[in-house]
Amino acid sequence: MTELATPPVEREQDVKRIGHWIGGRTVEGESGRSGPVYNPARGIQTGAVDFASVEEVDRAVQAAKEAFPAWRAMSLSKRTAIFFAVRELLDERREDIARLLTAEHGKVLSDAMGEVARGLEVVEYCCGIPELLKGGFSEQASTGIDVYSIRQPLGVAAGITPFNFPAMVPMWMWAPALACGNTFVLKPSEKDPSASLYTAQLLQEAGVPDGVFNVVNGDKVAVDAVLHHPDISAVSFVGSTPIARYVYEQGTSTGKRVQALGGAKNHMIVLPDADMDMAADAAVSAAYGSAGERCMAISQVVAVGDAGDRLVAAIKERLPKIKVGDGLEPDVEMGPLVTREHRDKVAGYIEGAREQGADVVADGRESAPDGDGFFLGVSLLDNVTPEMDAYKDEIFGPVLGVTRVATYNDAVRLVNENPYGNGTAIFTRDGGVARQFQFEAQAGMVGINVPIPVPVAYYSFGGWKNSLFGDTHIYGPEGINFYTRGKVVTSRWPDPATSRVDLGFPQTR
Ligand code: NAD
Repeated sequence: MTELATPPVEREQDVKRIGHWIGGRTVEGESGRSGPVYNPARGIQTGAVDFASVEEVDRAVQAAKEAFPAWRAMSLSKRTAIFFAVRELLDERREDIARLLTAEHGKVLSDAMGEVARGLEVVEYCCGIPELLKGGFSEQASTGIDVYSIRQPLGVAAGITPFNFPAMVPMWMWAPALACGNTFVLKPSEKDPSASLYTAQLLQEAGVPDGVFNVVNGDKVAVDAVLHHPDISAVSFVGSTPIARYVYEQGTSTGKRVQALGGAKNHMIVLPDADMDMAADAAVSAAYGSAGERCMAISQVVAVGDAGDRLVAAIKERLPKIKVGDGLEPDVEMGPLVTREHRDKVAGYIEGAREQGADVVADGRESAPDGDGFFLGVSLLDNVTPEMDAYKDEIFGPVLGVTRVATYNDAVRLVNENPYGNGTAIFTRDGGVARQFQFEAQAGMVGINVPIPVPVAYYSFGGWKNSLFGDTHIYGPEGINFYTRGKVVTSRWPDPATSRVDLGFPQTR
């Protein structure tokens, strides 16, 4: 492990100082402001992350601006070679990164390894950047005239990321941005910033020139500085809906291209003909994996007709077997929540749901492991109705609600009336109904007997409605479009004037 990969120390007197990465080196913050980073499984502060000032953000943007001309001029062959080196290093160091995630986020190590693997797929997609940037060509559009289209980078792009995927979500952004020839400033979540600094060091080791990738840590001050900086051309944001809306409105008002992905309330419809064991396995995995802190988590099951009793019984039977604890222990399946405040807020929804009339089938407050960690056990709420807070809000914790409805049409209405539209899933053996659901569901990502339909890297990820502000989804082909702009050239040429003899086998340069 390199120095930055060392998980934060665990004794309070050894709280690790976490700075920024600007112009190819670690820079200590000068603002005098910082925030705590915790080991959520132990409930102790392990780091203090510097919060950037407007001037510090500007320094990172200037470094990115200076690095841009050479990076965009680098041949596709050379940029691709660097991307393959990045891919190799990420592959080699995946466990180092995963350990950083577990130390600061709390997710179990196997889940953290999965996060890195899914992010790596986006980097692998970007290794094909020469193919992805190919334009179109029309010969003889007019007599003696050819027309062709090219895509060019935007300049300095910025990314603002959430706490729940501290490695993967930044990869969704920096990988296509850099591959397209942009330079980048990343503002990671202040709750778990170390993976981003480790990534910066790794990119440098892989041959990414200094200044091409920068990290500024911080809070609203840094975000606002990014949104109002005249030298930033594009902003990718992933986080909660209110902040996504804010980032979109502020960023576009200053002329930037913005994609802002927000929160979610993903419904999983279970029809009476579904394989109930499979549906229960899927609901449990998708609701409680990563302690429910996933934007694609299933937080709401909609049981149709007589599916309800059988499904609730099958889910309930599985809950006592889920082992909750420190994510570094090999048999643990669910870790703590990210902070004490967030754990307490999530726990509040269990009591609130009971008061509002839901049946608390399993209460995670009773099954949480002892100790100082920010733990909550798994909770199951039955007979949840759309008026309840536990239904309306994105809880973002290990709390699964079950709503019972009479028909498929009632279930689809719930999905489509929901203000969020990130992901949704249907469990059924009826292909015709599944196809109808795919046709009419108002959500950006649909699973058919698949509870977490996160698209593979060569499709794009994104929701509808309040789950995304902007026109383009993230990574995949839409990510390439987002980080480039089109140009069409109309050309007429006299006879070729330049030519030379070279008997060597033609090579890319
Ligand atoms: P968050 O919105 O609190 O924070 C996201 C980023 O915004 C962070 O970098 C944070 O520093 C910054 N920020 C926070 N408050 C701000 C403010 N007032 N002004 C400016 N910037 C601010 O989100 P989070 O709690 O870190 O992450 C969880 C949320 O992210 C959930 O709602 C989840 O659904 C969502 N999410 C969505 C997706 C998706 O793809 N749609 C993916 C992952 C997470």
